[in-house]
Amino acid sequence: MIKTKLVPRTPSAHEYPLLIKYLLAESLKYEPQHEIVYRDLKRMNYYELNQRIAQLANVLTAAGVEPGDTVAVFDWDSHRYLECFYAIPMMGAILHTINVRLSPAQILYTMNHAEDKVVLLHEDFVPIIEAIKGQLTTVKKFIFISDKVYKGESPAIPTTIDFDGEYENLLSKASQQYEFPDFDENTWATTFYTTGTTGNPKGVYFSHRQLFMHTMAVLIYTGSMGERAHLRATDVYMPITPMFHVHAWGVPYVATMLNIKQVYPGRYEPEILLKLLLAEKVTFSHCVPTILQMLVNSPVAKQVDLSRWRVLIGGAALNKALAKATLDLKIDIIAGYGMSETCPIMSLTYFKEGMLGLPIDEQIDYRVKAGHMAPMVDVRIMDENGKFLPHDGKTIGEVVARSPWMTQGYYKEPEKSEELWRNGWLHTGDIASITADNWIQIADRAKDVIKTGGEWVSSLEIENIISQIEGVAEVAVIGLPDPQWDERPHALVVLKPEYTEKLTAEGVKTHFKPLIDSGKLNKWYIPDKVVFVKEIPKTSVGKIDKKLIRSEMKDLIMNA
Ligand code: AMP
Repeated sequence: MIKTKLVPRTPSAHEYPLLIKYLLAESLKYEPQHEIVYRDLKRMNYYELNQRIAQLANVLTAAGVEPGDTVAVFDWDSHRYLECFYAIPMMGAILHTINVRLSPAQILYTMNHAEDKVVLLHEDFVPIIEAIKGQLTTVKKFIFISDKVYKGESPAIPTTIDFDGEYENLLSKASQQYEFPDFDENTWATTFYTTGTTGNPKGVYFSHRQLFMHTMAVLIYTGSMGERAHLRATDVYMPITPMFHVHAWGVPYVATMLNIKQVYPGRYEPEILLKLLLAEKVTFSHCVPTILQMLVNSPVAKQVDLSRWRVLIGGAALNKALAKATLDLKIDIIAGYGMSETCPIMSLTYFKEGMLGLPIDEQIDYRVKAGHMAPMVDVRIMDENGKFLPHDGKTIGEVVARSPWMTQGYYKEPEKSEELWRNGWLHTGDIASITADNWIQIADRAKDVIKTGGEWVSSLEIENIISQIEGVAEVAVIGLPDPQWDERPHALVVLKPEYTEKLTAEGVKTHFKPLIDSGKLNKWYIPDKVVFVKEIPKTSVGKIDKKLIRSEMKDLIMNA
């Protein structure tokens, strides 16, 4: 660091650290009468949200939470979770959002690793804790969460866990006054775990300053394009990305700052999602492609008007077929790219002037890209020797990035942290090209790209082609070792029910012929095996699980 002259400071001057409490202060400025809705169980406005956040802080203080302590939350997407997003970090404590879909052994590992002290536990997850509680090394207290209280039923359930009390009951007795202190903006605010290809889950962590900056950048990028804006103060927001997955991509912080009406759907059930979508007039959501696929395939989707709905797709590549099916339902679809380590947003669809006037087929080419670099994010591509590669839309390299909100490492994993940040750039493990005007096109995850006959073949590109074949509901392509060609691509395909037995493996392969004849692709792209299955395995956050397919479905594919 060079030596510079810092601004003079008056001892009494307020320094205004970039704290989450200042984001929350905005929630009472514009439309605080707007509602926050939890299923058909609870409705409140932003005044009540603020009161309840103070009450929660009082409840947690009484439970012994002190600055620097970690508080774990097991809940479905709810107004309570939103309260935790604020109260816990605003006390100077650390919010640990538990990925409830990990195995009990992985959850145990993450809870001991994060040193959770107090746990807020929804009744649906009591069996997980029952199974591991003897091995939890740091937890001192449990607070019980139940939806039954909103229905006037008794929240008690049979369990051996010694709860401190029930969430709503404790809140109702707590004071609505809490003086949230100022502290250093680099204070640790949140943590959660990401599962890699091998080894234990890795803990990423974010400070108040990072969440503040991320919120501001997303706000600028989604809201400042006039007619072409993605998210406005007049929207109605419903996340369909679990709040444990990178803070629901940080959008609840943005929505709260804008005083937007928010709808929290609890456990994801397709009928409830569609019901809330229509009844609450939701206009903005985000989810991974597999969830959107499920909603688009639902027969109800074709009978209702979804033309007000805009959906941000992220977490995995959006293929052309899904984008087309979604646009056909008049749903406005956009894409974003990010990862747990990047808080997450790195890029989003950007409607350049005139783009919305293009025919849909041309717009799709932009909408399915991984987006356009977001403000204050520097995304580049690098070769194996650490050399930057040109942004010409063709050259492919590993995506590396910098921004004010990227995790500074993996908690208690110095070697993996150095590996993540080698050469001072966060290495994503994704392979992409970038155009001169900042559009990112992901070719593959480095671990999923297929090396065959001396060529690098993108599994995403093959999936894109197969997804557009009539009758295909879902597809996953992986590479498996081949004695002659190093690796070969193989496809797993789920057919729509009415197409069962109508499409054959050969039928799928013939769709590659025109692309090869016209020189758009080489012959290595034709998958060796096309195996029809009923279901494709998904990860804990609902993405296609290629690691599991490679390890557990290899024999099924090779013997097909
Ligand atoms: P996670 O840490 O679980 O959020 O996963 C992050 C990974 O998801 C990234 O490194 C990418 O491989 C993948 N991903 C996220 N967004 C996109 C996108 N728009 N297109 C392709 N892959 C994506």
